[in-house]
Amino acid sequence: MIERDLRALRRALAAKEISSVELTELYLQRIARHNPQLNAYISVDPESSLAQARAADQRLASGEGGPLTGIPIAHKDIFCSRGWLTTCGSKMLGNFVSPYDAAVIARFAAAGAVLLGKTNMDEFAMGSSNETSFYGPVKNPWDASCVPGGSSGGSAAAVVARLAPAATGTDTGGSIRQPAALCNLTGMKPTYGVVSRYGMIAFASSLDQAGPLARSAADCALLLNTMAGFDERDSTSLDRPPEDYSRELDRGAADRPLAGLKIGLPEQFFGEGCAPEVMQLVDTAIGEYRRLGAETVAVSLPNMDLSVAAYYVIAPAEASSNLARFDGVRYGYRAAQYEDLNDLYGKSRAQGFGAEVKRRILIGTYVLSHGYYDAYYLQAQRIRRLIANDFAEAFRQCDVIVGPTSPSTAFKLGEKAADPVQMYLSDIYTIAVNLAGLPAISLPCGFAGGLPAGLQLIGDYFTEARLLDVAHRYQQASSWHLQCPAGFA
Ligand code: GLN
Repeated sequence: MIERDLRALRRALAAKEISSVELTELYLQRIARHNPQLNAYISVDPESSLAQARAADQRLASGEGGPLTGIPIAHKDIFCSRGWLTTCGSKMLGNFVSPYDAAVIARFAAAGAVLLGKTNMDEFAMGSSNETSFYGPVKNPWDASCVPGGSSGGSAAAVVARLAPAATGTDTGGSIRQPAALCNLTGMKPTYGVVSRYGMIAFASSLDQAGPLARSAADCALLLNTMAGFDERDSTSLDRPPEDYSRELDRGAADRPLAGLKIGLPEQFFGEGCAPEVMQLVDTAIGEYRRLGAETVAVSLPNMDLSVAAYYVIAPAEASSNLARFDGVRYGYRAAQYEDLNDLYGKSRAQGFGAEVKRRILIGTYVLSHGYYDAYYLQAQRIRRLIANDFAEAFRQCDVIVGPTSPSTAFKLGEKAADPVQMYLSDIYTIAVNLAGLPAISLPCGFAGGLPAGLQLIGDYFTEARLLDVAHRYQQASSWHLQCPAGFA
């Protein structure tokens, strides 16, 4: 069962080969067995999950339900989930039981999916290694001495270790794609505004976007079908007609299915900075795309080199504002001893936030302060526009942009923890996409030294269905995405 994709699981449920309760129990048992070692989940609540599974079985018995009914799904602990501890990886929310569901959680519930558990993550989604979590680091199932990537590292480790059939994540600067690459998964960041941010704890609101983390592009399409949709409670949610994101899969001629597709190769993705063993796998995957009929053209994103610098002004600026609400008064952590109101704020925040979060709040407050706003924040916003323009220009010459997702395979736990700039550079290929608000997907493209590497496909706005299809074609012609880490089969 654990090797089946979502469509096959749905068929097994419909054929009564297994019930949702049995499937949920199977995963709960695997979590009980392997999670102590991986630390991928922050909370599991078997009673609550099994109650949802029983309800799903009833729906299935009456012939109702959709593609995800009865299937257990893990959710990043950034999504508020009614009755569940929702920590965002922080001590600040270590006692917060959400009174309501995020839009994403509600959509999965309405589809009849089972909430299997809440996954570990970098504190407030700030990080690329899952090491900033108050709940401790997550281990990479391919090598327990390595990081799984971040910030959606718990979701990625859970799915690749077969502790969940699929999961959700969020991506502000790469947090779905980078852990997907480091764990051998397929992960998609949709166009900004496609998935509602309601109830998704805010990090940098103009960049944050939720998306699927799964074992294949076809699974991602099914998840995105459930996640996407207009929501008036999120002012940046886009009111567009609903789409079937799997509509392009398996369409068209079989031997050269990608004939006519123009793949853009930006020179900035193929220069220095990427580990040669990763670059070799990316080159081989591009060769495979040519064999499938695609054509490649050279393109340029001249301002991409500025993306990390611009991001580390904009994201902390927004974070400093978003995190102001955690003051020890209304909910979350409150210092046990304090003198007056200011002392309550100060001590609660000093004790409730970890070092990386404090660093971002300080940077953000600084770049927004009088006298620095123009020099840093406004300047970063201008660079953001230039980067979006670069992509617009590139998409006049190609349909899809291809390159590496991450400049290296999984690094060792602790290796970059003391050097924030080195850590920030692990998102060098992913951040520009968030600044421009574009959709992108990472998919497995091979192994170097026993560790997986990811290929990134970036599309123009609203081309998710096309991107999923382009990823799917590669997955039909390769088997990297089917590989399972030893000890978890
Ligand atoms: N690693 C980046 C950061 O630390 C991106 C995180 C994310 O996408 N949530 O901000």
